[in-house]
Amino acid sequence: MRLIIMGPPGAGKGTQAKFIAEHFKIPAISTGDIFRANVSEGTPLGVEAKRFMDAGEYVPDEVTNRMVRNRIDEPDAASGFLLDGYPRTVAQVEELDGMIRFTGHQLDAVVCLTVDQDEIVSRLLQRAQVEGRADDTEDVIRRRQDLYLQETAPLIEIYKQRGIVHEIDGIGEVDEVTARIFQALDVIPES
Ligand code: ADP
Repeated sequence: MRLIIMGPPGAGKGTQAKFIAEHFKIPAISTGDIFRANVSEGTPLGVEAKRFMDAGEYVPDEVTNRMVRNRIDEPDAASGFLLDGYPRTVAQVEELDGMIRFTGHQLDAVVCLTVDQDEIVSRLLQRAQVEGRADDTEDVIRRRQDLYLQETAPLIEIYKQRGIVHEIDGIGEVDEVTARIFQALDVIPES
């Protein structure tokens, strides 16, 4: 099973990704988490990524693509994976297509969480207090929202044309949203 979870920053992708990945026994691969781990370990990748992340900008495609390619090549991802936070640009969509095609598989589904703007801003400001993420300040949140609308929301259309998008209402209790996702995905045969 090869899946993507999409949605604006603050839509709850990371939370839901864990449940979906557990269910299908595949790794949830979050590019944001991998970048943050590299930043805190001070690796060269982390040093490079940090300046973009702190400003709410996307890390350059070639850096991100290489990182995802390496992660997907790991043995635990051989039978499938759930990507959270990737792809975010058209170039990344093409790169991912190539990676999956190379393994002889296909992308099975794209889960799209929909949440309205006001709800998102209040969730992110709340998360800023709890987690203290460097990129959860109001200016940077706004920049991330704008970038999402400009660069990433259009990708949904690309996947819709392939008929693999499941749009899920992301408003409600965490387990309600999970139940909606499972209901939508159960119709998809496991590979
Ligand atoms: P959010 O909650 O805003 O969706 P993430 O944790 O997914 O944030 O990502 C945090 C930051 O990591 C992004 O703002 C960006 O700088 C960087 N990042 C994560 N995934 C990608 C990607 N696919 N392409 C470019 N940059 C990325």
